Order: sequence, then structure tokens, then C-alpha cells
Amino acid sequence: MARILNGMSIDVEEAFHASAFEGEIDPSSWSGFEPRVGPNVERLLALLDRHRVKATFFVLGWVAERHPDLVRQVHRAGHEIASHGYHHRLIYHQCRQRFREDAGGSKKLLEDITGEAVAGYRAPTYSITRQTLWALDILAELGFQYDSSIFPVRHDRYGIPGAPRFPYRFRTAGGRSLVELPPTTISLAGFNLPVAGGGYFRLYPFAATVAATWYVNRIEQQPAFVYVHPWEIDTTQPRLTRDRLRWWRHSVNQHKTFDRLARLLALRRFGPLRDIVASLPDEPAAVLDAPALERGSMPGRRGAWSRTAAPRYETGSDT
Ligand SMILES: [Zn+2]
Repeated sequence: MARILNGMSIDVEEAFHASAFEGEIDPSSWSGFEPRVGPNVERLLALLDRHRVKATFFVLGWVAERHPDLVRQVHRAGHEIASHGYHHRLIYHQCRQRFREDAGGSKKLLEDITGEAVAGYRAPTYSITRQTLWALDILAELGFQYDSSIFPVRHDRYGIPGAPRFPYRFRTAGGRSLVELPPTTISLAGFNLPVAGGGYFRLYPFAATVAATWYVNRIEQQPAFVYVHPWEIDTTQPRLTRDRLRWWRHSVNQHKTFDRLARLLALRRFGPLRDIVASLPDEPAAVLDAPALERGSMPGRRGAWSRTAAPRYETGSDT
């Protein structure tokens, strides 16, 4: 049996862009910090190259504007360049017009740098929630083909509990559609636990990521989506806050992240997210719209395209 292709993504930003420091580090002071993203992206490029893996780099516009050569370097190495927005503002802190400018501006900037169309978007801190599903309408209007921002979990900053755990097609109010690729979770006792990215990848024992990706691939027959940030492998970065809990969440097990990623790359098959979108069937079993996601009443809470009797979500029905 062919191994399932999983999605590997890097959210390219500086440590001070992380939402953990929102309210503490003002965006007007960002330019005053030492840039550290370049060398860490280059380490990730070398690691991916060693494992012959192409990934998706969701690049923040703010970073791309200051490091266009870095974006070109990633693109030349054969990786997918996608958008992480421009200013790393949480979507539910923006109005629609501002969001349109932020997402559209980042897309245009990246396309100007690489000469290639940008297909994917990931919201800062996964901030597409029930209250901001209009963001998907705008992304589709801007020409994005997929989004990877809806975490099917309960969390204080993000998430839509009950949203599908696996890829599905989202139909916008305007009649367009795009594919949604949710970051990987494991369903345990009625709760979805995030397992394969960012702080969760660092915090849990590595064996948990191995077991979770095995379960998703082999038992659920679905792709897993793993994400890391360049600052998560930066073990010599300066401390950005006096707040002990915040710094702990930001830095826990950073010294293990690079090695864990290397081991995961050796263990599972990975590719860029656009390849997974391309491999999905033309006629997905599940097409969801905003009312269905707002209700959170999807039967079985499973995503579409499962090879094992995928549930068929009827748009607008209340099951
Ligand atoms: Zn981010």
C-alpha cells in the first residue's frame, strides 16, 4: 500500500510576530529587533533537502518585504510559497476591508517576488473562527485555492470545535469555493487534541506525534498536516518577555524540535499542501458552507475524502 502523502508547512515569521507577545511587543517596534528568520529558514531548507521533501512556506508579508532574496531562495529550491498574511493581525481583530488588504497585499507581494501564483493561505494563529468565516469568502475572491486556518479544537485564541478534522471543500456565500486543510488532531473521548505542529509538537513526547500521524494515515486513511516556525528551532534567541508562562510556552523543548523534525521526515511521507489539494477527488463527499460550520453539526465530525465510507455532509441540512 502506498504511503499517504502528508502536508509539511513552515510559517515564516520572526519570534516577535507570535501572538503570544501581542499586547506586549508593539508592531511599531518590530523593525528594531534583530532579524533572525533567515538562518533558521536556511537550516530548515537544508534539512528538507537532505530528506528530499518539498514543503509549503507560508511567508508573512512583513518578512517577505524585508527578505525577498530569502523567498526567492525557498522558491528556487522547489518549495511552495504561500501566504501567512501581511501584518500577523488576528483576523477577528480586523474588519473585512482591512483583512482584504492584508491578505491581498501579501499575495501580490509574494507573486511579484517569485513570478508564480500563490494558491494557499494560513491565518495568523489560525484565527479563522465561527465569527470570521467571512474571511474564506474574501480569500476565494482574491483567488486563493486553499486555506489551512481552521483548527477543529476548542482554544482561547482559535478553533471551531466540531469542524471536520480532514480536508473538505468550503462553499462561500458568493458561490465560490476553496479547499480547507485542517491542522492535524486526534479525536479522544469526544475531544479533538492538536498533535502535529507548533507548541504541541514541542510539548508532547515525540512518540505522540509518531503515534498520531500513524493513526491518521493508517487507520483513518487521511493526510496529516504538520507545521513548524523558524523560531522554534532557534535555541539561542533572546528572551522576549518577562512573563514566565508565556516564555515557557514559546520556548519549551525548542532544543529538541530540529531533531524531532528530522526523525519525522525520515518516518513519514511529506509534500507541499498544494500537492495534497491536487490529489483530492474532483467530487468531494463533503461540501460545507458557513451555516454548517457555524452550527458545528456535521455528522460524525469527520472530514471528506476518507476512503472508508466518508460521511456525506448535506449543505444546509441539520443532522
Ligand atoms: Zn504566525
